[in-house]
Amino acid sequence: MNKLVVKFGGTSVATTAHIQRVAARVLKEVEKGNSLVVVVSAMGKTTDQLVHMANELCAEPSKRELDVLLTTGEQVTISLLSIALQKLGLKAQSFTGWQAGIHTETVPSNARIEQIDTQAIERALAEGKVAVVAGFQGVDSNDNITTLGRGGSDTTAVAIAAAIQAQRCDIYTDVEGVYTSDPRYVKNARKIPQLSYDEMLELAHLGAGVLHPRSVELAKNYEMPMSVRSSYCEEEGTMLKEEVQMEKDIVVRGVAFEGDIIRLTVYYEAPYTSSLASIFTTLAKHHINVDIIVQSVIPNMTPTVSFSVKKEQLKEALIILGEHKDTLGFDHIDHEAELAKVSIVGSGMASNPGVAATMFDCLYKEGIPVKMVSTSEIKVSVVIPQEEMLHAANALHEQFDLSILPETIA
Ligand code: ADP
Ligand code: ASP
Ligand code: MG
Repeated sequence: MNKLVVKFGGTSVATTAHIQRVAARVLKEVEKGNSLVVVVSAMGKTTDQLVHMANELCAEPSKRELDVLLTTGEQVTISLLSIALQKLGLKAQSFTGWQAGIHTETVPSNARIEQIDTQAIERALAEGKVAVVAGFQGVDSNDNITTLGRGGSDTTAVAIAAAIQAQRCDIYTDVEGVYTSDPRYVKNARKIPQLSYDEMLELAHLGAGVLHPRSVELAKNYEMPMSVRSSYCEEEGTMLKEEVQMEKDIVVRGVAFEGDIIRLTVYYEAPYTSSLASIFTTLAKHHINVDIIVQSVIPNMTPTVSFSVKKEQLKEALIILGEHKDTLGFDHIDHEAELAKVSIVGSGMASNPGVAATMFDCLYKEGIPVKMVSTSEIKVSVVIPQEEMLHAANALHEQFDLSILPETIA
């Protein structure tokens, strides 16, 4: 019997009518002879609403209590879906994160899964039940409920798939697959039939919200075949694999973008007072994710190091740097808000040196100023004013002919 893990996101379970539709889909898979674990998110915008309620009481609620609150969203869905499955005549059992044996590190609101004790799920499957598991949550070594970061249900699904050695993990969502860019905002964005783990990992890290980055990381590490497909139609989605044949001819495969980026700049009195290592070690210790880093040490000019962080981490980053000002040896810090990061991704870039130049030329012609740049073998990212984000994404999508089917490119 094939073991499959399927995951349905918030929009796919937004109402009880949606949940009935999901139940019918699960029944179909079971009738094909598959043994199923179903991972679900909170219904619709529930998680946002819960965050909003906490913020009505306190601008900065305790992360521990926020985790307890947010995990209730997924708990509603697992019970409702199990009820709907039972109504269809299936045996089904719901599992919260801790009941499913999902153990995480102790990092409230953004914990990584450390290990999954699969006994309870395996037992349910052996008894012919559908195991319905709450996404996005786990438990730490002190029995605190933790969450995996927004969008983390994808990661729950892939982690369980790897742990029970499932044949495949299917992520059902509100789009037909992974597109060349977010189809909600980029004209003529096109579904990509196959994508390598590495390309998807870059796209996800760079803002393509269709998958939680850690889910792709896990799929790659465990070589777990993974698909992204629509919960509303039967169309084939996007298959993620290690090697994708068509990619050799294609230079850029997708455009990703992300708003609410802040550029922090640290000014030193002299180069010898600066230690890149200590500044970034201090930030890392406090779980501040730093992205693009640019150091500038030019004779007769104040040495600086600039780096980008997400808006929600700005306050914490400023407090931590302020607390360590003396040991880190810098003079002062300033920051620029209202920025966005726009990136092009494709493994063909490694052997095509002109890609970054084409990107900069396109942005220049569109009158979009570039504030920071970062490149790797398979991506080029620029930081630009946030108001230009969608303009830049659309212009780059057109510049690299991403709406055209790859087969037509020689
Ligand atoms: P779910 O609730 O199912 O987890 P998400 O909202 O997390 O769904 O992810 C699906 C959304 O991701 C789509 O509605 C789309 O707007 C967005 N998205 C961003 N980038 C991409 C992309 N490259 N391809 C497809 N969808 C994307
Ligand atoms: N419900 C959580 C969120 O909205 C997790 C998820 O949907 O994956 O972020
Ligand atoms: Mg999601």
